[in-house]
Amino acid sequence: MEKNIFEKIRDKESDADIVFKNEYVTAFKDIYPCAPIHILIIPNKMIRSLNDVEKDDAIYLANILISAKEIAEKFNIDKSGYRLITNCGKDGGQEVQYLHFHLVGGVSLGRMIGLPKNSQKIFKEF
Ligand code: 5GP
Repeated sequence: MEKNIFEKIRDKESDADIVFKNEYVTAFKDIYPCAPIHILIIPNKMIRSLNDVEKDDAIYLANILISAKEIAEKFNIDKSGYRLITNCGKDGGQEVQYLHFHLVGGVSLGRMIGLPKNSQKIFKEF
């Protein structure tokens, strides 16, 4: 089966601005940044989404969180703050079918991002 774009970036078969790599994770700049700092962090093991994570994958998830902290320090947003997001499935807005975490910062991100306009109504009916 053909590799998807993040597998190719992980294996250095496609260009990306890689900012961090170790045995467990690869991190690179998002090609369409939505904030001054927008880094994608992926496990080096192909996992499709958060739904596909298994207990044995804990070392990958731990490395994602620890590398997020280190990358935030590297880009000087550790003190100002940042957000770490993973989109899962259709409603979550996941476009690339390879588990990834968006590390975004460098600007005040507000309370939440990307909620639909009628979200308050949906919550009331829940
Ligand atoms: P998702 O919507 O799946 O959570 O996010 C996918 C992200 O991957 C998007 O922010 C998109 O800009 C980014 N992306 C898609 N293709 C490429 C690519 O070829 N290179 C890089 N660096 N980022 C990509």
